[in-house]
This record gives sequence, C-alpha cells and structure tokens, in this order.
Amino acid sequence: MAMKNILTVDLEDWYHICDIEHILPPSGWDRCESRILANVEEILTLFRRFKVKATFFVLGYVAERTPEVVNMIHAEGHEIASHGYSHVQVYKQRKGEFLQDLLRSKTLLEGMTGEKVVGYRAPEWSICKGEKNSYWALDLLVQNGFLYDSSIAPLRFIGIPNAPTIPYTLSTPCGDIKEFPPLVMPSPLGNLPIGGGWGLRIFPYRSIRRAIERVNRFGYPGLIFCHPSDFDPIPPPIALPWIKRFVCYGKIKTTEERMTHLLNDFEFSSIKGTL
Ligand SMILES: [Zn+2]
Repeated sequence: MAMKNILTVDLEDWYHICDIEHILPPSGWDRCESRILANVEEILTLFRRFKVKATFFVLGYVAERTPEVVNMIHAEGHEIASHGYSHVQVYKQRKGEFLQDLLRSKTLLEGMTGEKVVGYRAPEWSICKGEKNSYWALDLLVQNGFLYDSSIAPLRFIGIPNAPTIPYTLSTPCGDIKEFPPLVMPSPLGNLPIGGGWGLRIFPYRSIRRAIERVNRFGYPGLIFCHPSDFDPIPPPIALPWIKRFVCYGKIKTTEERMTHLLNDFEFSSIKGTL
C-alpha cells in the first residue's frame, strides 16, 4: 500500500494574520466580512473528489462565529483539532494565558463535535526555543490530554532551525507527545518551507514532489498545510506590510493547482489516521 502523507488545514479567516494588531486589532474582527464558508466549501469539494480525510486545526474564534463551518467539516469525517482560540503566538503569552486559550478552544470544539480533541497547532508555528522560548507549552498539552502537536517548524526565523524534519516523539516531565513538523526541503541556506503557505506556491512542483518522495523513502509521511484564504479567488483588500502581503497572497492562484497535483500524486490522511 502506498505511504500515507498528511493533509492539514488551519481553519481561520482571512483577517487572522499575526502581528497586524496595529492595522486590525482583534476587537475589529467581528466587523470583518466572514469569507470562510465559501473557501471551505472549495476545500471540501476538492477533498471529496479525492476521497481524502484531513486534519482541520480550528481556531476557537472561528468555531464560535461560524459553527456551521465546523459542523460541515466534521460531518464529512475530517478530524477536528485545535488552533487555539485567539490566534496569538505562544511565545507572546504567559503560561496561564496559553492554558486558558487552549482549554477555551478545546472545550468549545469538544462540545460541538462530541469527540475528544487530541491535536494542537500553534498560530505561526510558535512553539520555539531560545529567545522566544515557549517549549513549556508542550508540558501543558500533555497534561491536558493532547496526544500530538504540530507547532514546531524546522525553519529559521519562525521555528527551531535544527528541529527534526520528520514526525518524532518529545518527552516532557508529564509524559510523551508526538510532534508533526511541516514538510521542508533541505538547502545550503537551511530548510525551505515548501509544505504550505508561500513556499507551496512559489517553489517548482517537482521540488515539492521530490521532497515528499524523499521522506516517504525513509518510511515517513510528508505533512502539507493550507488555509481557507489560500483558496479565495478575490482576497479582500487589507493594507498589509509588503512582507505579510507576500506571505499571505504572493502568487495565490497556484495553491489550488498545487493541492490538486499533490492529491493526484500521493495518498493522504488526517494526523489522527496515522497515530
Ligand atoms: Zn493560524
């Protein structure tokens, strides 16, 4: 049987972008147009076409504002996991704040689905070491019944550059937890982020395919991630700094093409499906 790779979606709306509080504070979210339903319908249609199940890391705020979207995803048999509640990077929160944010989203999602939430992904891959240390978050995840985490990117600038690039087990004083990093491509400049976001849109498709084939040869899955806004044909105008504009919208038209190619070429499952 072909190796199963991993398909994930961060379920958040177009205005959930870290570090833009000066342009759009969270107090303004309620006034932003919600565009998530149409984008999620696109994603679900694509996944249905390939009969594939994925993990959706749902932002608590989105679950509260548009519960019908979460119900729709759950009804199609996809895994519902947590993306926290308020989309603040973990290293910007105190332990108590993080725990509150985590449990608020977990309780909300479990109430909606009647199923245990066992997976977590931090906003912007923000479980880090060093200056932005937030490694303590893993202890809290284990203590609160999470079986896996997907918040450590083996990347410079936003992650832990030398972290493993394939799924692995982390030990905490409270027990073990599985970590699922995003697919990356090794290069002389360090790992390149090709598993989602701008990297998935910009690098040649053959490089992405080769990176997956490489990890599969070693017996490991490659992890792909996307966002509903990647599927938005007309993203709403927002005055983002150029770097954010590139990260969020650079060459946006190809995300769907790329995903279709990937779903044609490889087998995928949710994270829970590989545990
Ligand atoms: Zn996010």
